[in-house]
Amino acid sequence: MSNWENYVRKVVPYVPGEQPGGGHIIKLNTNENPYPPAPGVQRALREFDAGTLRLYPEPTCKSLTDAIAEYYGLRSEQVFVGVGSDDVLAMIFLTFFNSGLPILFPDITYSFYPVWADMLRIPYEEKPLDGQFLIRKEDYYGENGGVIFPNPNAPTGILMELSEIEDIVAHNRDVIVVVDEAYIDFGGVSALPLIEKYDNLLVVQTFSKSRSMAGMRIGYAMGNERLIRYISDVKYSFNSYTMNRTALVLGVEAIKDAAYFKETTEKVIAVREWTKRELTKLGFSFGDSMSNFIFATHAWAPAKELFEALKKEGIFVRYFSQKRISNYLRISIGTQEEMKTLISFLRGYLQR
Ligand SMILES: *Cc1c(COP(=O)(O)O)cnc(C)c1O
Repeated sequence: MSNWENYVRKVVPYVPGEQPGGGHIIKLNTNENPYPPAPGVQRALREFDAGTLRLYPEPTCKSLTDAIAEYYGLRSEQVFVGVGSDDVLAMIFLTFFNSGLPILFPDITYSFYPVWADMLRIPYEEKPLDGQFLIRKEDYYGENGGVIFPNPNAPTGILMELSEIEDIVAHNRDVIVVVDEAYIDFGGVSALPLIEKYDNLLVVQTFSKSRSMAGMRIGYAMGNERLIRYISDVKYSFNSYTMNRTALVLGVEAIKDAAYFKETTEKVIAVREWTKRELTKLGFSFGDSMSNFIFATHAWAPAKELFEALKKEGIFVRYFSQKRISNYLRISIGTQEEMKTLISFLRGYLQR
């Protein structure tokens, strides 16, 4: 009998939303942007010289960190880029959550946090959201090994006030506080200005949602130069060439086009507000989402049943069987047309 299985790092992996293939589906299950990336991205891709792929990419990712820094009015030394914010967040867990004390995050939140913690053997405590699904800032004031939460939170979509975030950061000067702003561009207020005041704050964002680039895998962290240097050291100890040549070129094009970014995020917000009104008319209720999805429960129709019925119709939304939220659907905001199709199907289904 061989013994090797005793020494395997056994993990319960994160389960991403389905990526169904085929033609006629409406995909509202992974919070992708319904609009294409900025036109410059397509242009740069057409003009991309495959001959350059012979060479390794730039390990410091300078062109992209410079472009991100310029967009936010930061110095490049305050920016770290990675292969989607999932990669950036994993590096942050590895770099900073080593005190042996439990890190803190909400009980209902991005379900990747407990997966990274388990994989890296970081202890954690989940702090329950209140009855309205709000984060209670006081829950994060006690001794801990670090704090992480999304703002707006996922999958609730609910935004926390900047002053409350500052209270959490200020009560945790001895550990790193990470604000995961995957959805901040859909109407929220970023905690970014606080990085000048607090050297224990990291703000993490992504090109996957508001910049329509989920398929390119670009995420970034912004914070004090010392924090960024520590994450970089860990990255170089793991894989020096994280960002491929196409990602570096196309990422710059995406962040440059501020006008297109404004136009598409405003469209998503307008369609979200329309969808909220229609869902309310159909008997749904939800917290006030400031993201590109709505986390809704129906007055009498069970979420699981709606999820299955929608799926049969080729409309994919996300359902979580986890306790407290097992009667909710997370519905990403698609185009106006897609949302009209969703609403009219639901209207018919609920009136059977
Ligand atoms: C989508 C998402 C991410 C990860 O996005 P990437 O595609 O890896 O950049 C991180 N955090 C939250 C809360 C998300 O919803």
